[in-house]
Amino acid sequence: MSLPNCPKCNSEYVYEDGILLVCPECAHEWDPNEVEEDGLVAVDANGNKLADGDTVTLIKDLKVKGAPKDLKQGTRVKNIRIVEGDHNIDCKIDGFGAMKLKSEFVKKI
Ligand SMILES: [Zn+2]
Repeated sequence: MSLPNCPKCNSEYVYEDGILLVCPECAHEWDPNEVEEDGLVAVDANGNKLADGDTVTLIKDLKVKGAPKDLKQGTRVKNIRIVEGDHNIDCKIDGFGAMKLKSEFVKKI
């Protein structure tokens, strides 16, 4: 099994210490499993990477199951959270509450 390079300094002399990986050159320690979990990737309509805490706007009107009205294009969505799945953005929208969106229908501000 080959170990990944250090994510901080890109050293290839990384070694395992229990569940952690350690870089002898910059003393960075990290949990490789955690890196994988953080590796969820969501990309907006323009191909920009989205991250937890980003603010996005909708690029089109979206129908919401069970809601009395549609989500309008241009609606601002603050503090998104990237999750796994088809609808990969977890968020809260004023007047609608908690919901999940597809990252392809939003763009980062
Ligand atoms: Zn390093």
